[in-house]
Amino acid sequence: MTYKNTEEFSLQLDENDELKHYRNEFSIPLQKNGEEHVYLCGNSLGLQAKRTKSFINQELEDWATFGVEGHFHAKNPWMPYHEFLTESYSKIVGSKQSEVVAMNTLTVNLHLMMVSFYRPTKNRYKIIIEADAFPSDIYAVESQIKYHGYSVNHSLIKLTPRDGESSIRTEDIAEIIDREGNEIALIMLGGVNYYTGQVFDFETITKLGKYKGIVVGFDLAHAAGNIKLELHNWGVDFAVWCSYKYLNSGPGSVAGAFVHEKHHNSDLPRFAGWWGHNKENRFKMPDEFNAIKSAEGWQLSNPPILSLAAIRASLSIFDEVGMDKLVAKSKKLTDYLLFLLNIIETDRIEIITPEERGCQISIRVKNGNKELFDKITEKGVIADWREPDVIRVAPVPLYNSFSDVFNFYNILKEVI
Ligand SMILES: *Cc1c(COP(=O)(O)O)cnc(C)c1O
Repeated sequence: MTYKNTEEFSLQLDENDELKHYRNEFSIPLQKNGEEHVYLCGNSLGLQAKRTKSFINQELEDWATFGVEGHFHAKNPWMPYHEFLTESYSKIVGSKQSEVVAMNTLTVNLHLMMVSFYRPTKNRYKIIIEADAFPSDIYAVESQIKYHGYSVNHSLIKLTPRDGESSIRTEDIAEIIDREGNEIALIMLGGVNYYTGQVFDFETITKLGKYKGIVVGFDLAHAAGNIKLELHNWGVDFAVWCSYKYLNSGPGSVAGAFVHEKHHNSDLPRFAGWWGHNKENRFKMPDEFNAIKSAEGWQLSNPPILSLAAIRASLSIFDEVGMDKLVAKSKKLTDYLLFLLNIIETDRIEIITPEERGCQISIRVKNGNKELFDKITEKGVIADWREPDVIRVAPVPLYNSFSDVFNFYNILKEVI
C-alpha cells in the first residue's frame, strides 16, 4: 500500500478498519483541555475496557449477597473462577487448556517456574538471558543462581547485539548454545524484548535448546496479546506473563503461567500450596500434597477474584476479536507508523526495533536528550521513556487508531 502523511489519509484508514468500533469499548484518558490523549503506552499499562466495571461489580454484588457462600452460589462461583479464564488464555498463548493458569504476579511466577525448571548441577548450571532484559527478570535469575550456591559471573550468559547493531541475532544465540550447550541449564528470554521490541525466534531457539537438553522458558510480558504465539507446538517448557500490559486487566492484576503438558506428570520439585492440590479432596485437608496434573498444580493460593474479574472482562474482547485479526491490524498500524517516522528528515532519532516485532516501536534519541520526550508529552502524547535513550511507542490494535499514529507523527515532527 502507498501511504500518505495526511490527516485525511489516516482518517480513511480508520474508516476502513474493521476493528475501529473497539476503540469505543475503552476509556481513553483525557488531557486537561478535554481532548483525548494520544495514548501509545499499552505496552506499559493497557487501557480500561468499559465493560470491566460490570464484571467487577458482579463479584462485589455477589460478595454482598452471599458472603462466603459466593464460592459456590455466586453467578460465577469463586471456587473455580480461575478456570473461566483458561480457554481465553490458551488461545492467546497457543496452548492446550491444561497448560495455562491465571495466578500470582509475573515475577512471582517466574520464580515458581524456576524452582521447578532451573535445577543446576555441577556440570550444567548456566542460564542464558538478554543483557538488556527487564531488570526484574535479571534480579530473578541472578537470585536463583545465588540461591543454588553458584556464582552469577560464571553462570549467567548475557546476550548482547553485535557492535553497531541493536537486536540480537538468532545465529549468535545458536552459536552460544552450540558451544556451551552442555553447561546451560536454562534459556530464559523475554519473548518480545521490552526495550527494543525485538521478537525472538521462539521456535528455532526452543528447538536448538531442546536438542542440547536445555530447559527453555519465556517471559511473555510484552508478547501476550501482542503477537501470535504457539507455545505448545513450539515445545516451550514454561512461560509467564502479566495481564496489565497488552491484556488490559488493570495495574498489578493477576498474571499467567504456561507449563507444557510433557511436565504435568513429572515429579519436578515445586513450591506447593493448597490451591495446587488435587481438587477432589482439597477440602478434606489432607496432609500429603497431591498436585493437580496440569498447570494448575503450580498454584499456591486461592486467587483474588476482583482481579480475575477484570481479566475476564478484557479476555472477553480478545475472544471476540481473535489474535489473527488483532495481529493483522497491528501490522498495518506499525507499518504506517514506520512510514511516517522514516519521512521525518532528521538525524535526532533512530528506530532500533527490528523487522521481527509486535506493535512496539523503540525510537532511540540522539545523545539521550529527554527533552524531546518531555515536549511530546506536553503536547498530549502518552508514551514512555526508557533510560538511557529510548522512547517506546506502541499503537495497540484494540484501541489505537491510524489517526493516533498520524497525530503522534505530527507532534513529533513539530517538536523536532
Ligand atoms: C512488565 C515486566 C515485568 C514486571 O513484573 P511484575 O512482577 O509484574 O511487577 C517483569 N518482566 C518483564 C519482562 C516485564 O516486561
